[in-house]
Amino acid sequence: MKTVGILGGMSWESTLLYYKWLNEGISARLGGLHSARIVLHSLDFGPVEAAMAAGDWNTVEGALLAGARSVRDGGADFLLIATNTMHRFADRIEQEADIPVLHIADATARHAQTLSLRTVGLLGTAYTMEQPFYKGRLEDQHNLTVLVPEQDQRRMVHEVIFSELCHGILKDTSRNAFTQVIATMKAQGAQAVILGCTEICLLVDDSCSALPTLDTTRLHVEAALDAMLA
Ligand code: GLU
Repeated sequence: MKTVGILGGMSWESTLLYYKWLNEGISARLGGLHSARIVLHSLDFGPVEAAMAAGDWNTVEGALLAGARSVRDGGADFLLIATNTMHRFADRIEQEADIPVLHIADATARHAQTLSLRTVGLLGTAYTMEQPFYKGRLEDQHNLTVLVPEQDQRRMVHEVIFSELCHGILKDTSRNAFTQVIATMKAQGAQAVILGCTEICLLVDDSCSALPTLDTTRLHVEAALDAMLA
């Protein structure tokens, strides 16, 4: 079994899912008392989020690079960045920290391709929905057409992520607001919705969504399990 590295803490609510699902996956695949070989570096998200909100991306990048190097030095064979947003730095981390990164958008897009999807909606932080590093990768490298909500809805989704989901707060009113956004994207032609933030799966799943959900947290973990046992 290869050793997986996790750059986590962003937020720790979703890093918990990575830790649990990686171990459950190895147990299911190998049986017995097998569990996942993991090197976890969990950042203090407070200063990282503050730097991001201030547009100080250099500070964010420095924190991520230091974490990735410690994961590499801890013996990880490859790295999961356990947040969609921080994939803004995936290429830099791979080069500067010298560790292969299993990209969350690639894992998600490959699953979309197995389902023959062409048009998908995307929910995530404003950074993920608006900056080119994520939507552009899905479009340019994976030939997907990606729809994002209009500006007021993007603001609402972003706000719920940082003021509720990253604190483990799950509200019915927010779930209803998300499902309305998903219904709008369905009316616009989306065939599925990417839950492009690692905490959204805490709030939304297929049971309340007008579209099939592509949960990036789950798909990232599944791709990691394949890589660990390849
Ligand atoms: N975990 C979230 C994501 O997947 C948001 C937190 C962050 O900005 O890293 O994007």
